Amino acid sequence: MDHRTEPLYQKDGQLYKHNSTISSVQPLSSLPQETQALFKAPEGEPYILTSTSTIFHAQGGGQPSDTGTITSTSSSAGPTFHVHQVRKVDPAILHVGTFEPAGAKFEGKEEVIQAIDVDKRVLHSRIHTAGHVIGLAINLLVKEGALPSDIVDGKASHYPGAAFVEFQGLIAGDKKADIQARVDELVAGDLDVKIHFWTEERARSDCTGVLESFKGDEDGVRVVEIGNVGSYPCGGTHVLKLKECGKVVIRGVKRQKGVSKVSYEVQDA
Ligand SMILES: [Zn+2]
Repeated sequence: MDHRTEPLYQKDGQLYKHNSTISSVQPLSSLPQETQALFKAPEGEPYILTSTSTIFHAQGGGQPSDTGTITSTSSSAGPTFHVHQVRKVDPAILHVGTFEPAGAKFEGKEEVIQAIDVDKRVLHSRIHTAGHVIGLAINLLVKEGALPSDIVDGKASHYPGAAFVEFQGLIAGDKKADIQARVDELVAGDLDVKIHFWTEERARSDCTGVLESFKGDEDGVRVVEIGNVGSYPCGGTHVLKLKECGKVVIRGVKRQKGVSKVSYEVQDA
């Protein structure tokens, strides 16, 4: 699996169906232990499929995998590969899943149709974008002096039912209403969400929050910019306009060991 998979979801987060060519299909059990350990094996006979390009978001950066199906373009009677989980193992993107009917599989490097579960992708993109909005709201409050000046963006998780953004520094619990008001303002402004590829130098100097772990590839560092309010290096998928997030609800603010954790969810507006 040394063939590169082009991550199409990084260029177009609204591409839900796509034709690609199989690079490899092999049983999950044939891979090295450390690769197998990346996956929660689905029931049945799990296979790893790679292709020249993919629209399936690979789990990472706090965003879960996409799920969906991969089917043959040549025969409607061909097998369906159900994608359960997707991980990046450079330079390839690995789709783990099972074939239906069991025992069938793709033969050779055929052309296939990828289709992701759209409702799930849209929800992930809403939650993910909302995390950035909360980061920007908090950065605005810091600039205005409403929050301490030593607050720095930290890690985030955008899993449905367990979404949060963390910050180094202390955010008092009574600031929740201020954060909510700022978030509401930004969403109501329906700002554009744009993707750029910047040099590492520019990403470090111009982004609102930068985690030490980011790295670019041949396209540069992928950055998401929201209106002209701010930007973050990011590999995930987003909505195109902030109102698509729906209502972003701050659930709580907790502090532990110098880190503040802001939990949140998105609701239909
Ligand atoms: Zn993002």
